Amino acid sequence: MVESASPRWLVLDGYEDEPAAFGVPPYVGFHIRYLCGVLEQAKIEYDYVTIDQWRDFIRVEGEDAASARLSNVSGVACIAGAVVPGRYLRGTPISLKETRNIIRQLPAQVPALFGGWAIRGWRQQGWNPLRSNLFLAVQDTDATLSNFLRSGQWKHCRRTAEEWTLWAQSGASSKAVTQHPDLGDEEKKGPLTYEVEVYQGCVRYKRGCKFCIEPKKGIPIWRTPEDIIEEVRLAHEAGVEHVRLGGMTDTYTYMAEGVQELEYPIPNPEPIARLLHGLREDERLGILHTDNGNPSIIAQHLEQSEEITKTLVETLSDGAVLSFGLESADPNVHEANWLNCDAKQLKSAIRLINKHGRGRGSRGLPNLLPGLNFIAGLNGESSATYDLNLNLLHEIRNEGLLLRRINIRQVEGEGFQDIVQKDFNSFKSSVRDNIDGPLLQELFPLGEKLCDVHWETHDGRTRLAAHQTEAHTSKDCHGKAGISFGRQIGAYPILIGVEYHIPLETQSDIIVTGHGARSITGVEINLNHTSVSQKQLEAIPGIGEKTAWKLVSQRAKNIRKNSMSGAYQSPQQWFNATDVDWNDNFAVFFE
Ligand code: SF4
Repeated sequence: MVESASPRWLVLDGYEDEPAAFGVPPYVGFHIRYLCGVLEQAKIEYDYVTIDQWRDFIRVEGEDAASARLSNVSGVACIAGAVVPGRYLRGTPISLKETRNIIRQLPAQVPALFGGWAIRGWRQQGWNPLRSNLFLAVQDTDATLSNFLRSGQWKHCRRTAEEWTLWAQSGASSKAVTQHPDLGDEEKKGPLTYEVEVYQGCVRYKRGCKFCIEPKKGIPIWRTPEDIIEEVRLAHEAGVEHVRLGGMTDTYTYMAEGVQELEYPIPNPEPIARLLHGLREDERLGILHTDNGNPSIIAQHLEQSEEITKTLVETLSDGAVLSFGLESADPNVHEANWLNCDAKQLKSAIRLINKHGRGRGSRGLPNLLPGLNFIAGLNGESSATYDLNLNLLHEIRNEGLLLRRINIRQVEGEGFQDIVQKDFNSFKSSVRDNIDGPLLQELFPLGEKLCDVHWETHDGRTRLAAHQTEAHTSKDCHGKAGISFGRQIGAYPILIGVEYHIPLETQSDIIVTGHGARSITGVEINLNHTSVSQKQLEAIPGIGEKTAWKLVSQRAKNIRKNSMSGAYQSPQQWFNATDVDWNDNFAVFFE
């Protein structure tokens, strides 16, 4: 962690995590960048630190060092974005306890600004810290900071359109990017993925889904394609490669026509094409993914939506997902909650995306598929709701349509009704067993090659500080006993496990060898038969522990005997010399 000698502002990235605002590494969120953009514009010195770096600092140096560090800052600005931090592979959002500790350790006179959804959520739950010069932002944290820097006063503020552009563009090459631990360098590129805010609000702002906060933002405000392209250009200059277009409640209604007059505004294929092609023209762009789709808009305007879908398939990287918020297939729930789309519209939209998006791209993934979101706990729900949901999923699958992911979320508290846990659990397990399982096998069939898997953890699904040390990142660990977990870069990647160690923060290609509940297993291709380890051999289907041991022993014997002539010429020759039947299916794993 960078430490400053003279006092500067400390920008603490506590990570945001909303469906339309990814910010947990490898993502860098846009709100934290806007905060840095404000400081850049004001020419104020600051350090950018992620909450994971802060935790490491405390682990290594101790709480006293953290207090000393905090007593040497001119101010603290933090985005805390996940009310209940869930399980993440690569980083964990700041918790309420950590936020409290930081506030407690901070000297009284130091200004402190905290913003993001977690702050609002914790306040609603009764959190009310008393401290002078502490401000909890409920509007735009960046605008609030800017106002404070100018006036010395804390006040809830909103950014103007000009400020939005200014801070987005200066945030693009700020320390939130250049000092982000996932950026990597020229030699070893990191998986950093740059989340861009394309617009704010939802076209259903007059009568939106009752549980949703987006309609409260009023009429949608779009950023122009040129503004976004310029921001991403600056991010590329700073070393960014991968981008996700976030902040879109619906990709299809970006700059749509008739937003104020029509219930179903008409998608406008031109600006989204200008944005996507404009971004693709920059050769520095790696993975490009997008955000949500609104199935009712797609279904009501199939012609324009087809054009947009074709553009998405042409310009996005494979593995792209359009999340569709159905929430419930029950007409009663639909009615009671002013939901967005019905089952008929949903199927029509899913058919369109499948028609153009199900072909595979260069990384081995379907190009573009819909994801589907259900919510349990909405008013009007009954046991029949879950049957209707399940029937709809079976109908979709019986038509042979693909879904990339099905997300089932429970909501509780004020404005929602109690969930009959038995019904909910049985729905969830039915979906997992009868829908998700077969889907996973179809999306990632045995033998399929998946490219550019980025390896992130060993022996567990959470990245630890130790994983960044030589023992886990150097090529010497390749093939050793243990499990490696990795993902391809992009939105909602499948978790891939390999039954031996692969140097972390490297990338390689695998062949799918098995399926778990929500993950897959694989083995790398291009294994070198002169150095492949026993554990690597064992991971190949059809080679058990005993055979792998025999092969490795025979190879060692052969090298001892014929040190001059070296190892076997080919894996096949090696297998034959060991009396192990060569199977042509093995060939794919070797160089
Ligand atoms: S369509 Fe989506 S963004 Fe709009 S109100 Fe409904 S849930 Fe919210």
